[in-house]
This record gives sequence, C-alpha cells and structure tokens, in this order.
Amino acid sequence: MNALKNGVELTGVSKVYGNTTAVRDVSLAVKEGEFLSVVGPSGCGKTTMLRMISGFAVPDSGDVRIGGESMKGVPVRERRVGIVFQNYALFPNMTAYENVAFGMKAQKWPKTKIESKATALLEMVGMGDRAEAYPRQLSGGQQQRIALARALGIEPRVLLLDEPLSALDAKVRNTLRFEIKRIQRDSGITTIYVTHDQEEALSISDRVALMRGGALEQVGTPAELYAAPASEFAADFIGVNNILRGVYEGGGRFTWNGRVFAVETARKPGPATMTVRPERLVPAGLDSKSPNVLEGHVVGKVFLGPLTRVALSVEGETLLMDLLSAAGESLSVGDPLKACFDGSDGHLL
Ligand code: ATP
Repeated sequence: MNALKNGVELTGVSKVYGNTTAVRDVSLAVKEGEFLSVVGPSGCGKTTMLRMISGFAVPDSGDVRIGGESMKGVPVRERRVGIVFQNYALFPNMTAYENVAFGMKAQKWPKTKIESKATALLEMVGMGDRAEAYPRQLSGGQQQRIALARALGIEPRVLLLDEPLSALDAKVRNTLRFEIKRIQRDSGITTIYVTHDQEEALSISDRVALMRGGALEQVGTPAELYAAPASEFAADFIGVNNILRGVYEGGGRFTWNGRVFAVETARKPGPATMTVRPERLVPAGLDSKSPNVLEGHVVGKVFLGPLTRVALSVEGETLLMDLLSAAGESLSVGDPLKACFDGSDGHLL
C-alpha cells in the first residue's frame, strides 16, 4: 500500500498572527492509517496546526499535503477531511440520523446508499437505537458519538479531532477514547487527534507529537516519549517524573547534591539532568547493594488506588516514589525512607 495515499505531510509549515508565531516551521509526516496525537500546553499551536490541515487556516509558509497532493488553494470541502470539535456542533434541528446523513446528502449520494451508510455508522458508534433523537435529548458523550459518525459519513481520507472529549466527565471520556481508537482501527482511517491530556494521547496513539511554543519538541511512540524524553520539557510534560539537576562526570558517574550515582549513558561529561520515573524508585532494603540510594524522609503521600505516591524529601528536594498501596499504607509523614533505582532507569539529558 502506498503509505502516502491517505497520509498527511507538513513541510516547513508556519503561521503567524500579529506578533505571535502560532506554528513555527513544523515538518511532520503522518502515515496512512496512523493515529497521531498532538499534545502540548495551552497556546502551543495544536489547534492552529489542525486548522491548517483542515483548510480553516492558511499557512504563511510551507506546505500541507494530503495523499501526496498539495492543499494550496484547496478549500475545506474539497479536502475530504472529517472534523470533530470539542463543542459537538451538531445541527440542533436535525435528528441524530439526519445529522449523520447531512454530508452524504450534500454530496448527492443515492438515497439507498445514504440510508445504509448512516444506519451502519450509527450502529458503529453505538447509537443505533437513538437515530430519531434530537441533540438536546442526548448526553454530551452521545452527541460526540453522533459528531464522530457524521465526520466519518463523508468517507474522509483523514479524520481530525480537536479535543473531542474535553467537555465530558472522566468516566465517559475514558470509555469514548477507547471507542474512538476501536473505530479508527476498524476503519483504518488516518487520524490526527489534538488533546492537552498527555495521558489520553499515550493511551490511544501510534505516535505522539509534543509541541512547545509553536514548534515540535519531540515526535515518537508513546513508549519512546515515556522512556526516553528528548528534553527536560518532554520529561516533565509526559507522565510524572523526578528531575535531578547535577553534573555528569563521565565514566557512568552522575553527581547530584554531593551524591554519586552509577548510570548508563553515552553522553559527554558536563552539567546534566537525570530523570527517573516514580515507579522506578523502589525501597532500598538493608541488604541493598545498589549504588544509587536516595535517603530521606516522607513528607506526604497520596492514595491512587493500587498505588500510593509518596513524596520523599532528599537533600531539600522533593522526589516522588510510587509504591504498591499495601507497602505505602504503613508509611507516615516523618518516617525515614531509603529509595534506590537501577542505573538503566536514570535517564540522562
Ligand atoms: P489550547 O490547548 O489552549 O486550545 P492550542 O495549543 O490549540 O491551545 P492555538 O489555539 O493553536 O493553541 O494557539 C496558538 C497561539 O496562536 C496562541 O498564542 C493563540 O493566542 C494564537 N492564535 C490562535 N488563533 C489565533 C487567531 N485567529 N488570531 C490571533 N491569534 C491566534
């Protein structure tokens, strides 16, 4: 299969609004059938990037290609992209069925094809029994299911989703994110998903693009971004992390606040930052031979269900450590605690 057929490519794309560079020289290729999430803090340019792909915004420089074809001068309706926004934007005076059928009617599809396609899409999003309901009779989650079916109705080459779940409560959001993933996998449609929720992005994407100040900070699989963040910003934004600023002495020795740790790295000596995930810190037993010991005391703990996140004060800095709740239960604020980590879990930047 030609990977570019229904793929999306951005080459040196920028967009400036007044004094703000909303998107800065972004180059990115999304393969056909791929699910790519775009994450980053508020105002980093996620929506602007998506708007340039859909055609609602025009790049000041660079090019957007869909299926290998430049989108310069191609209006939104001719791009064959399906779009779902945060605010469901369904037509209030149309039933769920009519909303889904709308785009097909506009494209003058034969009546029987519209009927079978719209019915199948309503079934696919789990709304087969609510075809005659009006948007006001549906919950937010149900309306977003209809919006998704409507976006898929025109048989788009690409599906663009802009924070589609952010107005929903946590439980519905959780269910729907996996529904979206299932539908995307079943339909094989190239999907670009904008969210400020990095946990959501990690859980459903083939790859994640992290943006910062209009530019791409790092692009990779969820596992790559989690295990090997390319910068302190990425280490801090993706998941929960401990960030220790010190010096890499060379020879696998990293010093932090007068302590020396043995780490695995190929980097050059000099000022360095080591990141270590809370779940990689484990209590150091009396017989621990690990050279990487952090000795301190408990300053707080939060119950997270199966895990308890313990805040450990070491050398005046607070580090986080995730323990199985059974182990965390016995700890109290003020208790001394020794944690250790494997050298391969200390990621040096
Ligand atoms: P959020 O997560 O808050 O939605 P975002 O990452 O989607 O943010 P954008 O909406 O793309 O960010 O905005 C990027 C920058 O461009 C912001 O500083 C924003 O204020 C600015 N911006 C976006 N659209 C316009 C516009 N139409 N006119 C002027 N400035 C704009």
